[in-house]
Amino acid sequence: MKRQIFAPEHDAFRATVRSFLDREVLPYYDQWEKDGIVSRDVWRAAGKQGLLGFAVPEEYGGGGTPDFRYSAVLAEEFTRAGAPGLALGLHNDIIGPYLTSLATDEQKRRWLPGFCDGTLITAIAMTEPGAGSDLQGIRTHAEDRGDHWVLNGSKTFISNGILADLVVVVAKTTPDGGAHGLSLLVVERGMDGFERGRNLDKIGQKAQDTAELFFHDVRVPKENLLGEFNGAFVHLMTNLAQERLSIAVSAIAAAEHLLEITTEYVKEREAFGRPLATKQHIRFEIAEMATECAVTRAFLDRCIEDHANGTLDAVHASMAKWWATELQKRVTDRCLQLHGGYGYMTEYPIARAFTDGRIQTIYGGTTEIMKEIIGRSLLG
Ligand SMILES: Cc1cc2nc3c(=O)[nH]c(=O)nc-3n(C[C@H](O)[C@H](O)[C@H](O)COP(=O)(O)OP(=O)(O)OC[C@H]3O[C@@H](n4cnc5c(N)ncnc54)[C@H](O)[C@@H]3O)c2cc1C
Repeated sequence: MKRQIFAPEHDAFRATVRSFLDREVLPYYDQWEKDGIVSRDVWRAAGKQGLLGFAVPEEYGGGGTPDFRYSAVLAEEFTRAGAPGLALGLHNDIIGPYLTSLATDEQKRRWLPGFCDGTLITAIAMTEPGAGSDLQGIRTHAEDRGDHWVLNGSKTFISNGILADLVVVVAKTTPDGGAHGLSLLVVERGMDGFERGRNLDKIGQKAQDTAELFFHDVRVPKENLLGEFNGAFVHLMTNLAQERLSIAVSAIAAAEHLLEITTEYVKEREAFGRPLATKQHIRFEIAEMATECAVTRAFLDRCIEDHANGTLDAVHASMAKWWATELQKRVTDRCLQLHGGYGYMTEYPIARAFTDGRIQTIYGGTTEIMKEIIGRSLLG
């Protein structure tokens, strides 16, 4: 089915992203995988190319187009290229909205120009060693000392954790406040007592730096409170829908792409004197996956359109997230099986997609938590 959500300007943007990937990302990607981190140069190149902050107002150096379809194009192309390590989506779609919607004018002037030109790389730190799905278990806390906060605690699994110059930290600011005792504090590179731990050794997405962060008596000025005091929970709930949609967008793009390359593979690979594609089992596998992808694509494109129009709710974003990422997991596994032993070799894109993609049902809210959100909306 022909997709109907994009206009010629989105197609032009897609061509720009593809040429950026060919020029600035793919030639270096294997090295970044070995290094466990991408270069800072590629962030600056992304800024120059207009791939950062396209939703940020032009007066701060952004693109001034809060149209989520540009984000969708970026996510789709990075997924097809097999380059999830350069986390532009995290920066643009997950952290960007906190800065554009919650920052004061003074904070915007301080942070947004660097956000857009690639000199200020961002991260968001919610998860702790003892609190992931259940954010009410957060122990990182900040004490009010008049003109500043004193922040103590630790976070883990933080994407861009090593590269980040600005980290939005979820911290307890009212000890017995439960979900309504949390605030967002912005910690900046170089603040005394802010330390990075290990760049964590993951099974996939090796070029993406994922790290532990430690805060020992970090003095965070009051000017670095983002949004409302004790308002973090509401801010997170507002912004998590876009995070979930972004992950779903990359999930369906991955499933479609892997199905495409596997379809080509089974046409060429022969067994028992004939191409694999002539066997009924293989044909049914491809037919089933193509059907599941097509049905999912229709729902996802509707979600993208709704979000571009400001009408996507948290429940439908959760449906998109768990469904598309579980589909990605199933399709990746079946496509790897159809590659036989070659599917297990890292030189084949399907092998890396298998390990890179496995995280998708976990971060941004697990499949189980997505179902909880949907169930709660239906059953109370
Ligand atoms: C590569 C990577 C990058 C990440 N990036 C970031 C980041 O940038 N910032 C950040 O803050 N975090 C990040 N995370 C953390 C991620 O969001 C959490 O790992 C995730 O939310 C799950 O939390 P957890 O690991 O503590 O698992 P747990 O919460 O301990 O869950 C373990 C299992 O129990 C299930 N479970 C939990 N509660 C329930 C329930 N009520 N009902 C049924 N099942 C339940 C879960 O679904 C899961 O299957 C990242 C993680 C990884 C691995």
